Amino acid sequence: MTEIKDSESTEKKSLNFIEQIVANDLQEGKNGGRLQTRFPPEPNGYLHIGHAKAICMDFGVAQKFGGVCNLRFDDTNPQKEDTEYVEAIKQDIEWLGFKWGNIYHASDYFQKLWDFAVRLIKEGKAYVDEQTSEQIAAQKGTPTQPGVESPYRNRPIEESLQLFEKMNSGEIPEGAMVLRAKIDMANSNMHFRDPIIYRIINKEHHRTGNKWKVYPMYDFAHGQSDYFEGVTHSICTLEFVPHRPLYDHFIDELKEGKDLDDNRPRQYEFNRLNLTYTVMSKRKLLALVQEHLVDGWDDPRMPTVCGLRRRGYSPEAVRKFIDMIGYTKFDALNDYAMLEAAAREDLNARALRVSAVLNPVKLIITNYPEGQTEEMEAVNNPEREEDGTHTITFSRELWMERADFMEDAPKKFFRMVPGKEVRLKNAYIVKCTGCKKAADGTIEEVYAEYDPSSRSGLEGANRKVKGTLHWVSVAHSLPAEVRLYDRLFNVENPSADERDFRELLNPDSLKVLSNCYVEKFAAENPTGNRYLQFQRTGYFTADKNSTPDHLIFNRTVSLKDTWAKQK
Ligand code: ATP
Ligand code: MG
Repeated sequence: MTEIKDSESTEKKSLNFIEQIVANDLQEGKNGGRLQTRFPPEPNGYLHIGHAKAICMDFGVAQKFGGVCNLRFDDTNPQKEDTEYVEAIKQDIEWLGFKWGNIYHASDYFQKLWDFAVRLIKEGKAYVDEQTSEQIAAQKGTPTQPGVESPYRNRPIEESLQLFEKMNSGEIPEGAMVLRAKIDMANSNMHFRDPIIYRIINKEHHRTGNKWKVYPMYDFAHGQSDYFEGVTHSICTLEFVPHRPLYDHFIDELKEGKDLDDNRPRQYEFNRLNLTYTVMSKRKLLALVQEHLVDGWDDPRMPTVCGLRRRGYSPEAVRKFIDMIGYTKFDALNDYAMLEAAAREDLNARALRVSAVLNPVKLIITNYPEGQTEEMEAVNNPEREEDGTHTITFSRELWMERADFMEDAPKKFFRMVPGKEVRLKNAYIVKCTGCKKAADGTIEEVYAEYDPSSRSGLEGANRKVKGTLHWVSVAHSLPAEVRLYDRLFNVENPSADERDFRELLNPDSLKVLSNCYVEKFAAENPTGNRYLQFQRTGYFTADKNSTPDHLIFNRTVSLKDTWAKQK
């Protein structure tokens, strides 16, 4: 008896607060046992990691409780919207691993919303205002001071009807008139102070073309769209808390008390995702793209879903991060390091281990026969035996990391030092015998001798040496460009900074290494979204522009958090 109770309570504890609400509603048989959510992006930009948080909630809760989540494009502003964004949004949702039920558009409801607006005018609940938006804003009042009524507020109904028609026929210039709901200029909720519900926009809409000249405001479209579709749980972010009563108000008007079951969407709000060292505003992200401050929406430094994908994040890593931060009712700023920690954990289990030398110096194994080669077995992923092995070619001339050699090294430098032994990964133990230097002291070549009896895997080969170095064979490796990324912004919270966000960009957020060498296996299937670990260096993936003739790899994340050490 008690045991069952216990397991029930742990089950409950693992639900977030919205899942808990949904579970209770379903248990109580609300909405006839139906669960319907939606993800409602405005197609005016690419999705970012904040949207991913909303997606994991909207789709996740429907999935978990056997409901349906629809995708609705809130396309009420043709000025900024485009089909390019529509397609990108669909692709990103699918990549994240979610499936929508139906695809809807707010523009599907333009006629219904128009009819509703006309009805409101006829009932004396809406009027055409000819003031400028500045005048209207100036009359809004403050939360403690009532607003001032527009001189057009009590104009004859007939006049408003005619003007609304004219607003939509193209006779009235943009900005000259708006339609406002007549509610209450003294309401303590500012959104009730005769909100603008329609404005004129002279721009072709990506779906309805030139059919409409007036477009509903988001607040006049969003709640009703949910209602038309039969959404049961309308989940959104906290900034919409004060809008909720207005949505309910419009639905009350729309239903006219006909719907006695009170079948309306219930809105629940969770905290937005804010991340350190980046921005989440679509306006700012668009500016970065348009001003070529980054290489497009999918620049690997962008917090966009496509940016993370190009950077080498797996969908699982993104979802793991969303899971780690959870859902609350309080806004916070999450640490970018947590996103990277999620990526490391995910990639450690997933990535193929390969060898790549990013800053090469030549290593010559002087006692290894010229022209001889050996195929060495390399484990693909020690975390996952079933991933098998591949081979890497060993030869007399190798590339090693310049930083792995020191002529005069401190005691704890367990790498290549004259007179000392190290193991070359998957190959032999070698003893460093010296180096060749240029006149300016630059190391040109490093020399070593190998011990033939120490080949990895051979019986008794494993005598103790401190330090294992990665390498690639000069004749059997491929040149590559490697891109190392860092924080896009220099300040922790760019959105809270008074300075223009462009001034806060980190000038060192991209470092290009053009003289790298990778083993051949690393370059196989370069665009197949392979997750790689360059041994000892970090997690990498081939860039979308990588070709066999010009290999390009992006660093997803380093093996360790280098910023943590500096603090
Ligand atoms: P805009 O400035 O264009 O309104 P937006 O970020 O609100 O941008 P929408 O396309 O309206 O973009 O957002 C779609 C959904 O994603 C909304 O339900 C919104 O609440 C949610 N969302 C947007 N940004 C975040 C974020 N940072 N964290 C969590 N959810 C978010
Ligand atoms: Mg929005």
